[in-house]
Amino acid sequence: MYNLVVFGAPGSGKGTQSARLIDEYGLYHISTGELLRDHIARDTDLGRIANEYISKGQLIPDQLMIDILEHTIENNPDTANGVIFDGFPRTIEQAHALDKMLAKRGAKVDAVVGLEVADEELIDRLIKRGLESHRSDDNPETIQNRLKVYNSQTAPLRDFYTQAGKYHAIEGSGAVEDIFHSIRESLRPTRS
Ligand code: AMP
Repeated sequence: MYNLVVFGAPGSGKGTQSARLIDEYGLYHISTGELLRDHIARDTDLGRIANEYISKGQLIPDQLMIDILEHTIENNPDTANGVIFDGFPRTIEQAHALDKMLAKRGAKVDAVVGLEVADEELIDRLIKRGLESHRSDDNPETIQNRLKVYNSQTAPLRDFYTQAGKYHAIEGSGAVEDIFHSIRESLRPTRS
């Protein structure tokens, strides 16, 4: 089992690179953002709660997010070969919960790919994406808040995973193919 966290600010390319990594490594992809948007689209109870936070650019409360993730892993036998976690963890508490969840299965986070992109480029990308995505959170005001939340609550995970010897910093601006190549090269030693 090989578990990979794809980490980075909103707009850093986590979804794009995760899609490439699934093809390459045959791992199960869990995007917590997509999972929540699916609930919103189906207008479930969870979707209604999630929308309150997402539309303001805030994080869903830790315990709720952790429960959703655990439920997803437990109910998908395809996760047994390993998972690409895209958009999770986003707080230190979530990172501890992920370690516990994986330890129960005799597994661990094997590597963290951190896509590093300057703030101005992130804002540019998110505004452009908003023109097509129709996501409730890809508008200038919410984008600013998402970046603030990222810097205060999520960015500390960089140190957390660096200290654990798992963080792979990847220059996240440039051509999708070149970034993917850097990721693949950087992960090579972590895959036995
Ligand atoms: P994303 O598609 O990863 O950019 O996520 C979109 C939004 O979903 C975020 O701005 C949060 O409101 C919510 N979200 C996604 N993943 C998480 C998470 N791990 N913890 C809390 N909220 C999350």
